[in-house]
Amino acid sequence: MIIVLLELDADGVAETSLETLRLARDLATEGGGVPVHGLVLGAADGVAEELADQLGKHGVTTLYSARGEAFESYAAAAWAAALVEARERAGAVVITGAGTPRGNEVLAHVAARIDVPMAANAVAFDGLSPLTVTRQVVSGAALEEMQLPQRPAVFSVAGHAVEAKPADTATATSVEELSVQVDEPDLRARVVSTEPGAPDQSGDLQSARVVVGAGRGAGGPEGFAGVSELAELLGGQVGVSRVVTSLGWRPHHEQVGQTGSRINPDLYIPCGISGAIQHWAGCASSKTILAINTDAEAPMMTKASYAVVGDMHEVVPAINEEIRRRHTVSTKGPPPA
Ligand SMILES: Cc1cc2nc3c(=O)[nH]c(=O)nc-3n(C[C@H](O)[C@H](O)[C@H](O)COP(=O)(O)OP(=O)(O)OC[C@H]3O[C@@H](n4cnc5c(N)ncnc54)[C@H](O)[C@@H]3O)c2cc1C
Repeated sequence: MIIVLLELDADGVAETSLETLRLARDLATEGGGVPVHGLVLGAADGVAEELADQLGKHGVTTLYSARGEAFESYAAAAWAAALVEARERAGAVVITGAGTPRGNEVLAHVAARIDVPMAANAVAFDGLSPLTVTRQVVSGAALEEMQLPQRPAVFSVAGHAVEAKPADTATATSVEELSVQVDEPDLRARVVSTEPGAPDQSGDLQSARVVVGAGRGAGGPEGFAGVSELAELLGGQVGVSRVVTSLGWRPHHEQVGQTGSRINPDLYIPCGISGAIQHWAGCASSKTILAINTDAEAPMMTKASYAVVGDMHEVVPAINEEIRRRHTVSTKGPPPA
């Protein structure tokens, strides 16, 4: 048996959870066709029943639903208590969920509660006994194989590691209410209010004619002033590497690459981006690339149409200043003779 923590968004079951279900189904097949169960938390009245049809198409046989005051807002420890309860009810030997901030946090709590290791951000698995997962480490820069011989095995699935896809054959999903004992300490860290985020602008990035990119070389969230200004001066958009979004320096909708947006601008200016294959996958269609990097041998520099070897914090402001100067000259017109 496999139990999957399912996260919900405005459209129902989140895409990352559907991706996780796909990997869980493959794992279930490897285990001789064991059932896949799901758990939703804090769903409003009747929502679990509405989701049953969709989840049946993704191979979920039983959907557990934990509701009540304790689940009205997100509290990692309370969610973990529910997942442990669902796992016991299902007799699951594998507990998994999407490698989202919430998914990883809840699964880490689960692993601590039942005293087993947890593998975060798996992209593939090999065998079930013992279960070996390949997982992303160092912000996705490297892959590590990790054996999970303990039962239950606990791991999360990295976003976009697999494509969400319904099962070949739909199954009937039964919904079961789960009664969970949540203790007061489980609710000490919880979400007390939420603010709407910035609107998703990844569409703007995908259609931009100019993209100014920045990677780890930006050095931190404060290192984007120059690239933002350059993007604005050129009427373009900012695009970033995954390191940048993983570190929380910039929002995910700005990420370029295999697990971000694919761009095809007339001009791409990657600054402080090494050009790892996963980043290149998203920018290879750019018509002209002007790379700025301190390392002349970085893959992005060797593949670029033009390369400037230098510190982006010096080169980018110098370009901005020159553009501003030329703009001033052209708007004022030539000096009087
Ligand atoms: C399954 C998977 C999916 C992935 N998907 C993506 C994806 O969609 N997009 C993506 O970007 N990555 C993705 N990655 C991660 C990818 O492998 C790289 O880790 C990432 O692209 C590296 O980001 P970076 O170039 O910013 O950082 P680094 O590789 O650390 O490179 C930083 C660069 O900055 C340069 N530098 C440092 N300081 C300065 C300075 N002051 N001025 C100028 N240059 C400087 C350095 O010389 C270096 O070349 C994925 C990885 C995996 C495993």
